[in-house]
Amino acid sequence: MIGGANGRPKRVDVGKLSHCYRCNKELPKGTSCIEIPQLGQAYSTSRRVCDECFERILTKTEDDLEKIRELLPADR
Ligand SMILES: [Zn+2]
Repeated sequence: MIGGANGRPKRVDVGKLSHCYRCNKELPKGTSCIEIPQLGQAYSTSRRVCDECFERILTKTEDDLEKIRELLPADR
């Protein structure tokens, strides 16, 4: 899952050429991308993803949430 105590994903400007960590697409300087904080690390490294991959991550997270939600009693 994404988000948590270490922060949540945010949109950042690409200061120097980066690559999406999922599809390795170039994130050219001057564009923007999504930065996802890495949980559980002492120093804040973060992963950068392109918009397409971020959307896929969100969809996956929504699926995961749906499954977790099923843990709740149905009569709530
Ligand atoms: Zn990507």
